Amino acid sequence: MPKEMQQCILYYAEEYGAAAHLCACGCGSKIRTPIDDAEWSLEEGSGGPSLYPSVGNWQKPCRSHYFIRNGATLWCGQWTEEEVKMGRHFEHQRRVALLDRKSSRKKRRRFWNWMRSLFR
Ligand SMILES: [Zn+2]
Repeated sequence: MPKEMQQCILYYAEEYGAAAHLCACGCGSKIRTPIDDAEWSLEEGSGGPSLYPSVGNWQKPCRSHYFIRNGATLWCGQWTEEEVKMGRHFEHQRRVALLDRKSSRKKRRRFWNWMRSLFR
């Protein structure tokens, strides 16, 4: 990971299995997203990278929530108190569920689609 990161660039360090970017709201927070089965997945598209699922920075002061799709940032608005709680809950559930379902790729896909539809 470079020391000085630039806004609007998604850095991916394959050897660390992690991507990082500066928070899309411009607050300067470094957002690190581990790329593995239980965390985020990164897809390289023609327009740029896509990160699944969404990035929810509820642990940062700005609490921004957005998707990165084809190199573009799609805003979902700020997290409310309720959503922060829900997000934490879902994140926990997601990890637990993914650990349970690691053996079955098909099930996992279905689960991702379900997760994605929740944030639409
Ligand atoms: Zn921010």
